[in-house]
Amino acid sequence: MSSRLQGIGMTSQRTRNRLVERLMREGIRSQAVLEAMREIPRHIFVDEALASRAYEDTALPIGHGQTISQPYIVARMTEILLRDGPLRRVLEIGTGSGYQAAVLARLVEEVFTVERVGALQRKARRRFRELGLRNIRLRHCDGMEGWRGYAPFDGIMATAAPPELPLALLEQLAVGGRLVMPVGRPGAQRLVLITRTAEACEQEVLETVSFVPLVAGEA
Ligand code: SAH
Repeated sequence: MSSRLQGIGMTSQRTRNRLVERLMREGIRSQAVLEAMREIPRHIFVDEALASRAYEDTALPIGHGQTISQPYIVARMTEILLRDGPLRRVLEIGTGSGYQAAVLARLVEEVFTVERVGALQRKARRRFRELGLRNIRLRHCDGMEGWRGYAPFDGIMATAAPPELPLALLEQLAVGGRLVMPVGRPGAQRLVLITRTAEACEQEVLETVSFVPLVAGEA
């Protein structure tokens, strides 16, 4: 592995291990998720000037008014998505830095990720290449519509919050599939888990969260 990927000092494996220990103390139980986060170097997903803060448990700016999600929330959403067993094909709305997609790529067969800001998408693509992650497909588009060409998905995750659940996403969920996303206006968002059965969609409303809003259209 190159020294940039490996990291030193505040970006070293030891620092990454400390973050994983913290996530365990905060209640993340899935060993698979913890291992994936131990492996993926988060400092690659932020600008160099912020690399020394990459293993703090906080969201960080990635430009274009967007943020890389807090590690705890990445771990939590991934754990919820995979709670009932492994998933094959997962769609992510809001590629952003690409960190969440990279973590998912270690845990599922194929990740499909869409992003409305072209510049962010291009950077994420370069990072996946640098890390040798080959099971991620990217698309520059408005994710409110999902990605019909590859539907249905066994899992769907959104990392930006719409005011209400987009119906197009529910329609692209396979029977038995799971969708986890923040829903609601800024200041009043809750994490929602939908499980699709043959007859209906079951909804669980989970914890309060704080995500950037899902914005319509491309940029
Ligand atoms: N998963 C990202 C989090 C990025 S923040 C990470 O790990 O870094 C959420 C992202 O959703 C932003 O990059 C934002 O541009 C994107 N986004 C917002 N509305 C969108 C939409 N309608 N379609 C696709 N992406 C959207």
